[in-house]
Amino acid sequence: MFDTRELGRRPGVHKRLSRTVEAPKNLGIEVIGVPLGAEVEIDLRLEAVMEGVLVTGTGRAPLKGECVRCLEPLEQQCEAEFQELFSYPDADDRSRPADTGDDAEDEDAEEMFFLENDLFDLEPVLRDAVVLSLPMQPVCQEGCPGLCAECGARLADDPDHHHEDAVDIRWAALQGLAGTIRDGEKDDHDGVVRDVGEKQEK
Ligand SMILES: [Zn+2]
Ligand SMILES: [Zn+2]
Repeated sequence: MFDTRELGRRPGVHKRLSRTVEAPKNLGIEVIGVPLGAEVEIDLRLEAVMEGVLVTGTGRAPLKGECVRCLEPLEQQCEAEFQELFSYPDADDRSRPADTGDDAEDEDAEEMFFLENDLFDLEPVLRDAVVLSLPMQPVCQEGCPGLCAECGARLADDPDHHHEDAVDIRWAALQGLAGTIRDGEKDDHDGVVRDVGEKQEK
């Protein structure tokens, strides 16, 4: 929660502030995010405007995740910028009638934030900004070659990695399989012929 009381309500007044907060739960996406309790440095510029307080800022935090290709743990730094208007509660009455009336409005309208007792909760704004700033497909390095399909080895550690033996084994297995099928067919066929032959003898 941030306090805007010192700022006052005179439009045009502004104030800068910095604060370090602990990262809340689930600040991120599945593959990468800010660890719970990590330090999030927040720099804010608060500006009083007609409808409320315009908050512009930057959040910086460490990120932990894993490479989507080779699953190697990775650490990055996140820098998320945001800007949001926190409206005065009494601005609600003035702005609502204009917003409603259109059925599609609920889905399209941006979420509105309000000051409560001159305080505002930055968390949802910070969360959206951080999530937007994250790489959807984080990788440990540009062009990470991923994992060996044969044995799961990390190819970045061993670029010359290859499996001549595995290829031979696979061929052998295929040949063996082909042999089995052929043998099986022959057996069945022989059996049928033998049955027919026995019947004819009777
Ligand atoms: Zn990787
Ligand atoms: Zn391998």
